Amino acid sequence: MTEENHGRSFVTRQVGRIRRRGRVAVISIFVLVLGAALALRLRADEPFARSRDYHLQNARIELRFDLDQRQVIGQVTHTITPLKDGLRELDFDSVGLTILSARLDGKDAHFSTDDAKLHVDLDRPSKSGEKHEVTIRYQGSPKKGLYFILPNNSYSSQPKEIWTQGEAEDTRYYIPIYDYPNDRTATEMIVTVPRDWVTVSNGKLQSVVDAGPGMKTWTWRQSQPISTYLISLVAGEFDESKKTWRNIPVDYRVPHGEADRIEPTFARTPEMLSFFSDRLGVPYPWDKYDQTAVDQFSLGGMENASATTLTARSLLHPELAHESLEGADGLISHEMSHQWFGDLATTKDWANLWLNEGFATFMATLWEEHQYGVDNAAYSRWRSQAAYFRQRRLFNVPIVTHEFRDSMEYAGNIYGKAGLVLEMLREQLGDDAFFHALQHYLEANRLQNVATADLIKAIEESTHVDVDRFFEEWIYGAGAPRFAVSTTYDAGAKQVRMEVKQTQDVRGGHVGLFDVPIEVAVATSAGSKSFPITVSKADETFSFPADSEPLLVLFDKGDKILKSVEFHKSDAQRIYQLQHAEDVPDRVDAAQALGDMKGNDAAITALGEAAARDHFWGVRVQALTALGRIGGAQAEKAVLLGLMDPEPWVREVAVEQLSKFSDDAALATKLTEIANKDSAYRVRAAALLGLGQRKAEGAMTTLESAAKIDSPDDVIRRAALRAMGTLGNDQAAPQLLEWIEPGKPMRLRTAAIDSLGKLAKKDEAIESRLIALLNDSDFDLRLAAVYALGERGDSTAIEPLETLRKSGDIPSGGGPVIEQQIARIKNPGEAQERDRQSADNSGNPPAAGNGANQQPNQQIVERLDKIDQNLAEMNERLKKIEQQQTRATP
Ligand SMILES: [Zn+2]
Repeated sequence: MTEENHGRSFVTRQVGRIRRRGRVAVISIFVLVLGAALALRLRADEPFARSRDYHLQNARIELRFDLDQRQVIGQVTHTITPLKDGLRELDFDSVGLTILSARLDGKDAHFSTDDAKLHVDLDRPSKSGEKHEVTIRYQGSPKKGLYFILPNNSYSSQPKEIWTQGEAEDTRYYIPIYDYPNDRTATEMIVTVPRDWVTVSNGKLQSVVDAGPGMKTWTWRQSQPISTYLISLVAGEFDESKKTWRNIPVDYRVPHGEADRIEPTFARTPEMLSFFSDRLGVPYPWDKYDQTAVDQFSLGGMENASATTLTARSLLHPELAHESLEGADGLISHEMSHQWFGDLATTKDWANLWLNEGFATFMATLWEEHQYGVDNAAYSRWRSQAAYFRQRRLFNVPIVTHEFRDSMEYAGNIYGKAGLVLEMLREQLGDDAFFHALQHYLEANRLQNVATADLIKAIEESTHVDVDRFFEEWIYGAGAPRFAVSTTYDAGAKQVRMEVKQTQDVRGGHVGLFDVPIEVAVATSAGSKSFPITVSKADETFSFPADSEPLLVLFDKGDKILKSVEFHKSDAQRIYQLQHAEDVPDRVDAAQALGDMKGNDAAITALGEAAARDHFWGVRVQALTALGRIGGAQAEKAVLLGLMDPEPWVREVAVEQLSKFSDDAALATKLTEIANKDSAYRVRAAALLGLGQRKAEGAMTTLESAAKIDSPDDVIRRAALRAMGTLGNDQAAPQLLEWIEPGKPMRLRTAAIDSLGKLAKKDEAIESRLIALLNDSDFDLRLAAVYALGERGDSTAIEPLETLRKSGDIPSGGGPVIEQQIARIKNPGEAQERDRQSADNSGNPPAAGNGANQQPNQQIVERLDKIDQNLAEMNERLKKIEQQQTRATP
């Protein structure tokens, strides 16, 4: 929970995790995050749907490739029906493509192009409803939309891969096409590739035929219409495993050589398809379901209709699979849910994108609840709430807004918050009504484009419950309630009086008062009773019967409502809550609050017991974290017991917390022992990092030996290299320099670069080596070097960084990140200030009057904050992968 909050340190720490093919303990969230976060600076997605001139019925796409030139050679035939009379030309979105010819209904047609469009002249004014065929021949080297991943001298065994990524508005970079979600077309993908390649696209595979020496042509047909951002092609050297589920093909493909990761990663796919089909009452809607993992994918996953693409970073190494609770389920279930929400019923514009992403987030947690139990799902939602409140700039922005430059600008609202809002709607309607409403929504809008009003209508038609107010507050309105709650006990009346205030700032803007059902629980020695209330006013008082002074009062038992609460409770009540509250979120809340009670023996004892004995791992993790925050000998003793936890993801947290107790020399011995002996690689890695962090005596020797140990996905070696940086021992520099050489595994190169940012800062040879890496062909490496140079703070780097920034040679638009690092070098203090500002972990919405105390360079600080917030949002978006792959804590 702290990582994404600490702007700078989050970023630098993540760099250490960058790996090209690393799949295990840690995922390279950073690059995924960064690519997406930065893309937003370079373009603006259209927030409003366009008015259409024509309907695209069918797109027949024929592609071949020049691998040496990284070129696409294409022909697309569009079958089009004009929607109005008198059109003189047909416009297609087309960026950076050379148009070789255009034909209209079999005859050459005049055409022209500009930066964004291809205009094809009609030979006579259009009549609504008539039909035209437009065939366009073109070629180009796409800057976006279609990517070539190819071997080179240093990485000669890299499988050859081509993959596309259409969302949001990038299909136009490799196909001239109508490219906005508010239309749908059938597609044919006819692709000619080397004969030993495999291809995957939307819909059914029609044929594979010889196409001249060494080549084959694959024909895929998607007969049900889809929006063009969902068009996909993956082609290359892949290993595959073919299964069927309810008579449709369900195939898995991974980069060649990684077949052993298919089973651990994808095993639960058929069960998941059954669960979603049955729960929604709408069978899986497409001809087949393919999942293909590709290298260097720019996102976690993409829900292309019937053909999901996933990052190969999410694949689980068979020896590491048991070290994570849910494997890649979070990612897999998210993308699979989109096959219904997003692909079958597709948002008509980016402003309503929550209809795709909020549902996918909600459904992924629903799978988690089904497969891993209510406690795991509740704990996920608790973390999701905390993540929402941490991203302060989201608070005043509604889930549906047209005020953005990029459709991902408020990702934290349309993913995390929207998922929680849907869960509240489920709570309030009840499962039967809620899932019937979803079924009706999907059936009524099958193969249609939708806006929020379509969902409201479907819910009301199905349930006869009017949900206008709910949507007004949660979807069209911004923020969430912030409650101040206080209770007194009236012994004479035998009543608990509860005063509830809504304290969110409702002056102007989009945030209002909320009308929410709340369950209050009152526990006395005679037992616990629940009372449903509705809170709707700014200030209200409620009374509840209680035979004696309550041991505990819970406001919103089980944490069902997205909200923040200030509710003063005694130490004894908190302890009682930690020990006795029925629901995980309430126990976790108590653990967190007790973590603030330094020097309170009873709190430490209670946390220690929870860390050792709570039956749910998340409470144990939260208790360990609280103990780490409290510090001191008694807390240390309790954390040590956590090393015996059966779950590796809990032991890992115990190790991380132990690293903070700095006044016990014996701990270094303990950590060394864990680094060598724990049964889980992720725990051993955490111990190595802990040794570096403690700057323990003799740590360098341990780290050097660890760097020689082979382990799955180099978990141990990578941790050792990263720990050398944290340790800050200049003697590590020569070894680290060896690990950054071309040909070494990418994940180790980036880890070594990250560490070189932290030591031997006066060493000019290291500085110039890192500067040279700014010209490397690999984006991950360039980016790691950018951060390392920022960390080193040597002004020699400013000019080369400027040059790189101006060259624009950072695929996902790394300009702002480079600026950030230059600013760090120029003003080291400022970065600290930024850290301080973003370190607020209170989970409260933005305080009013935040603009006070303007710093001299406030503008820069604010802009840097924005970058970090984007990172945090994308991190949140991908949190599932991270949780499962890296660590059990939020
Ligand atoms: Zn999604």
